[in-house]
Amino acid sequence: MFGSMVFNESTMQQYMSKSTFQGWKQCLADGTPLPLSVANEIAEAMKEWSVERGATHFTHWFQPMTGVTAEKHDSFISPLGSGKIIMDFSGKELVRGEPDASSFPSGGLRATFEARGYTAWDPSSYAFLKDGTLYIPTVFCSYSGEALDKKTPLLRSMDAVNRQCLRVLRLFGDTETHRVTPSVGPEQEYFLIDKALYAQREDLRFCGRTLFGAKPPKGQELEDHYFGSITPRVAAFMTELDEELWKLGILSKTKHNEVAPSQHEMAPIFTDANTACDHNQLAMETMRTVAGRHGFVCLLHEKPFAGVNGSGKHNNWSLSTDSGKNLFAPGDTPRQNAQFLLFLTAFIAGVDEYQALLRSTVASAGNDHRLGANEAPPAVISIFLGDELMAIVDSLISGKRYQEAEKKTLAIGVDSLPHIPQDTTDRNRTSPVAFTGNKFEFRMPGSALSISGPNVVLNTLMAEELRCFADELEQAPDFEAALHELVVRSLTEHQRILFNGNGYDASWLEEAERRGLANLSNSVEAFSAFLSPKNIALFTTHGVFTQGEMQARNEIHFESYSKRIHIEALTMIDMVRRQIQPAVSAYAANLCSAILTREEALPESSCGPERRKAREISRLNDALDTACTKLEEAVAAIPEGDVKRQAAYYYEKILLQMERVRTEADALEVITAADFWPYPTYIDLLFSE
Ligand code: ADP
Ligand code: MG
Repeated sequence: MFGSMVFNESTMQQYMSKSTFQGWKQCLADGTPLPLSVANEIAEAMKEWSVERGATHFTHWFQPMTGVTAEKHDSFISPLGSGKIIMDFSGKELVRGEPDASSFPSGGLRATFEARGYTAWDPSSYAFLKDGTLYIPTVFCSYSGEALDKKTPLLRSMDAVNRQCLRVLRLFGDTETHRVTPSVGPEQEYFLIDKALYAQREDLRFCGRTLFGAKPPKGQELEDHYFGSITPRVAAFMTELDEELWKLGILSKTKHNEVAPSQHEMAPIFTDANTACDHNQLAMETMRTVAGRHGFVCLLHEKPFAGVNGSGKHNNWSLSTDSGKNLFAPGDTPRQNAQFLLFLTAFIAGVDEYQALLRSTVASAGNDHRLGANEAPPAVISIFLGDELMAIVDSLISGKRYQEAEKKTLAIGVDSLPHIPQDTTDRNRTSPVAFTGNKFEFRMPGSALSISGPNVVLNTLMAEELRCFADELEQAPDFEAALHELVVRSLTEHQRILFNGNGYDASWLEEAERRGLANLSNSVEAFSAFLSPKNIALFTTHGVFTQGEMQARNEIHFESYSKRIHIEALTMIDMVRRQIQPAVSAYAANLCSAILTREEALPESSCGPERRKAREISRLNDALDTACTKLEEAVAAIPEGDVKRQAAYYYEKILLQMERVRTEADALEVITAADFWPYPTYIDLLFSE
């Protein structure tokens, strides 16, 4: 079953000539354009393979700046005359497409007179079959070649880090490695909610999260859901999800219940960053589709419910050579360890240098509810190395002895590192970036995010540090001595980013401030850091983004942040005006008429509880009305123009007022009879599996 819906290498060999297959491989290895004759043969082979499996259409599948994928289906049919058709697919159709793209966000990159966008085949990611359509992974760009998508910069950043890694590897005498590729394994969290209940909540349907909801009597405090036994209905969903993912060649490996009720996780085995990103998008889509078949809705929002954990996406990242070596694996010999320490140092320096940039890649309206809210990592970036590695780094910086090691100080390139046990390091869940034996786990991305953004930055910051290191070391008369000096100097300069303690502790924020680390507590601040001269220099130096592309992206980020909150505010107003207020009025009226009837029948009865409740409801309804009116006024007064100013307004004014509306409504929820409350509560939603 595995990969049965994927046009992978073994299928290619079966369906095309040896020379075509070799031509494709060669073009990938050299990065040269594919001759049209080869493209034609590949297209023919793809068509034959997919038509045999019932396909009638093909689509250029791309990842615009909306964060979700896009597809427009064309059928293979081509008229033959006399009312007949053949199924046809040419190399030209495979290689390039021109979807009418005027409605995709471009941040001003695409002038109105050139509304078209162009898709171009990414031959490094396999085509696949889904629902009778051949899916061709593509990049998406404007007429003049500016990236309008999430795949193009990722591919560029992979090239950039490859170039600089090779320079450094050559310095260590490695002449065999021809390609270094970032490896990525994203762990994906999600919620499953009963479909019928979901349908009754306007907020879930329009915003993907609840805008109201009193805390249930039982939340996650017993921690009985984490790794708990999986209910039959969820198990059936997970089994089918695995099957669907495996057919698509996605290496789904682990599944378990997460901390919050109704929350789960799926983790695949890591692959190259490009495939991992495609697969993560596909996995999210597949989760949604399969959930529907089991009477569930899959929520990928970063914070669907207040008061219980939100969902993240841990991005495990490392660098692998084409011969399968992991550049972050500590080795056995002094030379291997010198190389390991250099790559480690580059990573530490890069994350410190570009912490604000890395932070900005995980910013979104949804993730703002997670980061820094005592459950996900804090909004301050730091790196957790674990005790063993931290002690080694400390001894390098101080020049003092490493305690566990033999009685000498460590000289890079001369001494072996003491053994660094794997996996003792992973348990500090409060750290945004953790070294877990042979990879870094970046824990800030939200569950709904495309992993392209963070990986573009991880790849590029690594490329930049390695570039500087290579520039210096290539000139050094004594490589070993220069290496030692460079590592010690860089670690000393960037040690402020290393932190092994509890990231949730309030004292850490003070300490981080003393260390001068950035604390960008919300998306508006984070997006504002994106366009700094340093970041522009980074991306343009390595050919990952032009300055224009960066400005466009920044504009889109501000805009979509504001749009998300705008929709939430309107949904909130609608629910208050058309659902909550009528419901509580009806309940209050019901109480009042009960009081009147009782007083008539039983004049001696005081109806104390009913009166108190009716009064309290009236009072809260008044407060809710006032708060909601203020929200309506705030929405009516959104400033025109500048996207950043607008986003700031949404953050400072609208979100604050939404909080006030919610407080009153949630207070009403707990005193209104269940029969009258207009939609399912947290109790219903979170315990519906
Ligand atoms: P956990 O974090 O739950 O303890 P692991 O750390 O073993 O689990 O794996 C988490 C994810 O990290 C998986 O997707 C796994 O494939 C991925 N992973 C493992 N090794 C690497 C590596 N060298 N580079 C990138 N990702 C990796
Ligand atoms: Mg992990």
